[in-house]
Amino acid sequence: MKLSKKDKLYNWHPYTQHKTAAEFPAIVKGKDALLWDENGKEYIDAIASWWVNPFGHSNEVIANAIYKQLTTLEHVLFGGFTHNKAVELSEKVLSILPANQKKVFYSDNGSTAVEIAIKAALQFFYNKEEKRTKIIAFEDAFHGDTFGAMAASGISFFTEAFQGSLLEVIRIPVPTEDNEEEVLSKLESLLQSGQFAAFIFEPLVLGAAGMVMYNASALDKLIAICKKNHVFAIADEVMTGFGKTGKNFACDYLTQQPDMMCLSKALTGGTIPMAITTFTQEIFDGFYSDDVNKALFHGHTFTANPTGCAAALASIELLESDKIQQNITQVHQQHLVFQEKIKAHPKVKTTRVSGVIFALEVKTDSQESYYGNLRNKLYNFFIEKGIILRPVGNIIYILPPYIISNAQLQKVYQTIEEALEIV
Ligand SMILES: *Cc1c(COP(=O)(O)O)cnc(C)c1O
Repeated sequence: MKLSKKDKLYNWHPYTQHKTAAEFPAIVKGKDALLWDENGKEYIDAIASWWVNPFGHSNEVIANAIYKQLTTLEHVLFGGFTHNKAVELSEKVLSILPANQKKVFYSDNGSTAVEIAIKAALQFFYNKEEKRTKIIAFEDAFHGDTFGAMAASGISFFTEAFQGSLLEVIRIPVPTEDNEEEVLSKLESLLQSGQFAAFIFEPLVLGAAGMVMYNASALDKLIAICKKNHVFAIADEVMTGFGKTGKNFACDYLTQQPDMMCLSKALTGGTIPMAITTFTQEIFDGFYSDDVNKALFHGHTFTANPTGCAAALASIELLESDKIQQNITQVHQQHLVFQEKIKAHPKVKTTRVSGVIFALEVKTDSQESYYGNLRNKLYNFFIEKGIILRPVGNIIYILPPYIISNAQLQKVYQTIEEALEIV
């Protein structure tokens, strides 16, 4: 039996209504920006397998680092023990993050990285016997699918069924040129209540909302308001981290520094699930006490897995190489050229670019839902053409591995142009 058929018998896929879903292509091999399914069909992975893979599939540098670690020390518990790879990786990560980030907490995925940040914010104030139990987040934010992360997420159909069971989160709009003053004063007046522990945000680009972009100066002002009111600013860089916006981190465009940062997706170059939450010294000190009850009682079995750490160290070394930095610039330049070409197309409403991220909104008469008809039509068209793109409603975006070739990227653009003819 074909793998695709067998998959239907056993597997329950993410974000999938299986009654209406077709059989899924079964991928058996990947190299660089390409994937192949069991029938030999080739795909260009134009979204880096959900934004995790900057350096290409089956990358040998990372694979060798993983193999070496697997045959030296594959795993050891991080409770009561440490190991060289965790020490090396923490030192490395802190050296490239904003200078106020001083402590590293490991976990397994983006949602847990966010969960840890939210718990730390709430417990920081609990430890001080200050009652701050709510947080602030953007409308349409996405921070993950576990309960705390889900509470912070604003895309309603992801969270609708659980509304009664969630942490209290108050939302502010994403700042635009038109509403910036309004958003700033809304945050200012909310924070005056003294009930908030943190403001969590995706810096500069809201990924799952459809690569919605806003500017650094507005975010600087929002963070400044948080600082003034002693509310923690949590930068969720799970999507934006490690070069996506053109700099290592979206926060590198800011003059303000966040209090906590969440990292995952590209951390290990798309190989091993791993995440990091980082903290300022002030936050760490809020747990530092002779009283054991003030500790952060949070942990995961695979915390700081040495193999994951080795993969992350190899990835960061790649990220910092001249070749990859050139790749990022090249992808960005080509996006700008495509943007110039496509922005006046009669079916294009708007376009936007940040680093290696390109997004285009298709003009529609109706409000397109996240997994609506237009989205499905586009998705199926791209898959048929051998291009992996996952439009969000009427938004088509590209977030390719940095090493995608010029010819491959041109094929992605050309297929998007063809898609505009069928909508
Ligand atoms: C994907 C994502 C998450 C959740 O990460 P998972 O690894 O899927 O749990 C959190 N925040 C942002 C900004 C993301 O893009």
